[in-house]
Amino acid sequence: MKIYCDYCGTQIDTDKDITCPHCGAAYADDDELKTEQKRQERQLLLSDLDEKMRKVQEQEIMKEFEKHRKEKNLELIGKVIVGAVSLGLVIYVMIRVGSIIG
Ligand SMILES: [Zn+2]
Repeated sequence: MKIYCDYCGTQIDTDKDITCPHCGAAYADDDELKTEQKRQERQLLLSDLDEKMRKVQEQEIMKEFEKHRKEKNLELIGKVIVGAVSLGLVIYVMIRVGSIIG
């Protein structure tokens, strides 16, 4: 980032210069820089938090999906059982009817 030297007012590029290129003063205590660093740290913390929240949400969605899928499976198994029992009943009735007639 670009800040201004507290001593001589020269613009300093903190990405390139360790001290003021004009008067050689150190800018480590510069308020602008400290504020910017704090802002960046907070930004980093917030994006980290965002990432964590997103992961938790994803897990929740996956859990919900799994639950839904299991319920669907149970529903299908239920239908198959009901179908099989009905078919058995029909066959049983047909055999009984057949033995009565026969
Ligand atoms: Zn300076």
